Amino acid sequence: MQKTILIVEDEKPIREMVVFALGRAGYDLVEAGDVVEAYEQISRKMPDLVLLDWMLPGASGIEFARRLKRDELTSDVPIVMLTARGEEEDKVSGLEAGADDYVTKPFSPRELMARIKAVLRRTAPDTESPVLDVAGLKLDQESYRVTAADEAIDIGPTEFRLLAFLMGHPDRVFSRAQLLDRVWGQNAYVEERTVDVHILRLRKVLAPSGYDALIQTVRGVGYRLSAK
Ligand code: CA
Repeated sequence: MQKTILIVEDEKPIREMVVFALGRAGYDLVEAGDVVEAYEQISRKMPDLVLLDWMLPGASGIEFARRLKRDELTSDVPIVMLTARGEEEDKVSGLEAGADDYVTKPFSPRELMARIKAVLRRTAPDTESPVLDVAGLKLDQESYRVTAADEAIDIGPTEFRLLAFLMGHPDRVFSRAQLLDRVWGQNAYVEERTVDVHILRLRKVLAPSGYDALIQTVRGVGYRLSAK
């Protein structure tokens, strides 16, 4: 699947170089020149990674990184900082603000690409393994079977896909719109209420085993699957 990368950088030449290099490598690039534009892009489409410049007009990249990490909707999106500063303590404060890695300017497209790939690999949710397991609830993506403590659960196809998605991204909150986008697909013509209907059904089939407690409602935001 093509990964979307949001680049937040006010210096146009750097942005253009990055867009060109990463675009050629098969990434889908979206651009923002400041924090306001970055929020607009995020509300339009959740990126798979944010490439964030340290020095931005208005608000600093560090402050923006902190805000992304504080917000439940964006806290799992990996951040790579672009920094002109080489000092150790700046790198540390970037990582403390929640950045997953940093690249020091000037950097080569190759170096940037290597960092991005490494971060995406490290932070990718485990959707490759055919069997997802959350606290003993198992979902086999190949045989389409769900079991709770080795007892088979009878589950409909939409509930299966919804559960597979949530189990592949545990402890992360998704809004109804995001679930529609990721589980039903962007072109599906369904209302957000549909998500509630299928969550309800999912809880019902999980209820006899007690695993319905994994599906948590986050008020005003959406849903999350968590064993915590
Ligand atoms: Ca800058």
